[in-house]
Amino acid sequence: MRVTQTKRVLQADPKSDYLAHKGEIDAAIARALDSGRYILGAEVTAFESEWAAYVGSAHAVGVGNGTDALELALRALDIGGGDVVITTSNTAVATVAAIELTGASALLVDVDAMTLTMSPERLASAIAQHSGGRLKAVIPVHLYGWPADMPAITAVASEHGLKVIEDCAQAHGASLSGRAVGTWGDAAAFSFYPTKNLGALGDAGAVVTNESTTAERLRALRVYGWKERYISDSVGMNTRLDDLQAAILRVKLRHLDAATARRREIACEYHARFAELPILLPPRDESAEHVYHQFVIRLPERDRLREHLQANDIDTAVLYPLPIHAQPAYRGRIAVSGELSVTERAARELLCLPIHPTLDDSDIERVTAATRDFFHG
Ligand SMILES: *Cc1c(COP(=O)(O)O)cnc(C)c1O
Repeated sequence: MRVTQTKRVLQADPKSDYLAHKGEIDAAIARALDSGRYILGAEVTAFESEWAAYVGSAHAVGVGNGTDALELALRALDIGGGDVVITTSNTAVATVAAIELTGASALLVDVDAMTLTMSPERLASAIAQHSGGRLKAVIPVHLYGWPADMPAITAVASEHGLKVIEDCAQAHGASLSGRAVGTWGDAAAFSFYPTKNLGALGDAGAVVTNESTTAERLRALRVYGWKERYISDSVGMNTRLDDLQAAILRVKLRHLDAATARRREIACEYHARFAELPILLPPRDESAEHVYHQFVIRLPERDRLREHLQANDIDTAVLYPLPIHAQPAYRGRIAVSGELSVTERAARELLCLPIHPTLDDSDIERVTAATRDFFHG
């Protein structure tokens, strides 16, 4: 049955988020333009301290994007050629691209069937079976806004002397047992791509860490390895945050908790309305604060539901349709540990429903009604 509607329900909507705070954002942009310092200026310094405080980390270092944040974090922790970094295959290609950009290679492990984040058991068996190349680090990804099992992962990592770099690109503000993501590992990478929970209006990213020597290295590595201007002490990159994006992020940060609260409200409604449907819903656990970057459901007839919603002017997304080890650029050459059957099945069955802070109650009603209608006719 096709319900006639005019307005599309968007899966993500960075423009409406801009419009919701247009006055404040436009004023911040004007202020940044007026400052006369456009890269690593006062807005960047202010955002870095505000972001470090928000995460609860000692230092934040602004960079060009989330991929660079991961690469820089790895390099600051001395990871490079000949090293091996363990991560998951159910992630943004950026996670693995960043590992390879340092010269290291990735070893992919399967995810937990409930949370779709790194399985600590599979991490332990990958370490036990590993041969060839120096195992140096682990990158757990807090995927869809759900924190990976950090107590178990950090325990396995420290037992084997491995560094932990958290990929927090989808989990701004998420926490586990009252401890925020980004504060569990040696360093953590954030992306502020426009559709992330904290989004700039262009590319932006940050690395956070509690270690001051790591922070110092990050600050040098992001700008040609300079400690002193024009003198490179190390071989660095150019991945700087600009003041326009920092000024915009400072405005968005003031509204982040309210935006997260709205995402949770929407998720709560989806959970309630879908409880008896034959679909797998996102994990819920009292010890974890999910920030619902995505609301991911799983069902065998995923493609048919997706078409049904599309026909009702409701956009959905599949993050991600191909695990990294099945992507043309990586297939056949990337190292995997054991079977990745949970990852492969999830890629066939998962669907990301619309969830963003500017969805209104009638949008949510349309998504829930159309989804229920798919099962009940
Ligand atoms: C978005 C994302 C990145 C990369 O961030 P960019 O800013 O696009 O470079 C890395 N990891 C995950 C899990 C992401 O979702």
